[in-house]
Amino acid sequence: MIEASCHCGAVRIKIARTPREITDCNCSICRRLGARWAYYSPNDVTIIAAPQATAAYAWGEKSIAFHHCQTCGCPTHWSGLDEGRHDRMGVNARLFDPVVLKGVAVRKLDGADTWESRITLDE
Ligand SMILES: [Zn+2]
Repeated sequence: MIEASCHCGAVRIKIARTPREITDCNCSICRRLGARWAYYSPNDVTIIAAPQATAAYAWGEKSIAFHHCQTCGCPTHWSGLDEGRHDRMGVNARLFDPVVLKGVAVRKLDGADTWESRITLDE
């Protein structure tokens, strides 16, 4: 079990396990958020926050929503909006204790263009 939180602590996230890898993507939203995503089944993630603690942003086909803390602004996670269609969600690994991420591989994803990716171990 690992725990993450936004800067102010209004949003806490409990997760069943350390990620095997995290994804650093350069697509239009990820590069702006500055987030690095750890992907999980929603069953493995518990978001602990008051109902209005996060604001959600969705655009285009509105199939996923990106959440951030309303108080401190940290991007916290994204999740699917069509119930049943989504077997995974993303948690912003920038919220994890850096110790948790020691030795975890970083997948550099070219989501802006080719969707090719490569694994790196360094920052
Ligand atoms: Zn916060």
